[in-house]
Amino acid sequence: MVFDILTIFPDFFLSPLQEGIVRRARTARKISVDVHDIRGYALDRHRMTDDRPFGGGEGMVMKPEPLARCLQAIAVDHDRSSIILLSPRGRQLNQETAQRLSQYSRLILVCGRYEGVDERFRDRYVDEELSIGDYVLTGGELAALVVIDAVTRLLPGVLGCSASVDHDSFSRGLLKHGQFTRPRIFEGVPVPDVLLSGDHRAIATYRLIESVRITMDRRPDLLATARFTADEQRILKKEGLLEQVEAIVQESRSKLSHPG
Ligand code: SAM
Repeated sequence: MVFDILTIFPDFFLSPLQEGIVRRARTARKISVDVHDIRGYALDRHRMTDDRPFGGGEGMVMKPEPLARCLQAIAVDHDRSSIILLSPRGRQLNQETAQRLSQYSRLILVCGRYEGVDERFRDRYVDEELSIGDYVLTGGELAALVVIDAVTRLLPGVLGCSASVDHDSFSRGLLKHGQFTRPRIFEGVPVPDVLLSGDHRAIATYRLIESVRITMDRRPDLLATARFTADEQRILKKEGLLEQVEAIVQESRSKLSHPG
């Protein structure tokens, strides 16, 4: 997987790409990251990449030509690549989108600044707009790093144990259960007995119940996509949780079909 980043602040990426799993993935050549300085593609000697908005208004807008020229300098195979503009107006990134993006061989991440990029660049060159949440950042660089991080850990061979991706929060419509490590007692609070029992079935049952309880409490909206095996349904029924999950899903469906 190749990530290309288009930015006016290339130094922004020096440190974050040098740490942890992303660094390991780069060293193992599972990913490569090429940072392109948009200023190098500006048309004038002052290397201007922004200008005042037509029609007036506050702030500056990123000019389309340097962005287009920068993109044209990258050999993009459109079948296996996606050109992504990071933008608060975009579709919100989630685990499903990260999974989909991990199927491409190249992602080109365009980082806006100021009031954003000229609309004509967006219309002519961008495949999709992605937001990382309902808040406004000063630039797309942090959002680009979020995309790189979320996608990289899904690539085959990047995490030591590929099964851990399958058990992550969101992978099956559930948040992950709590985790515990040594010491067995921390500030007087012991680890739940079942986790020390060595009984794998009992541990799986405990974790499933915890996952469902936490999801019901914090993100009931996720439950609509959760699928349980017959065995899991039996366990949840015994705990009185299956009916509660079904009621939550039913309620969210009827809210969708009768908003307000
Ligand atoms: N004026 C724009 C608006 O209200 O939609 C916001 C521009 S923002 C200050 C500058 C740049 O930061 C954007 O062009 C985009 O690249 C990036 N950005 C800001 N918030 C973002 C978010 N939530 N997700 C992804 N990118 C974001």
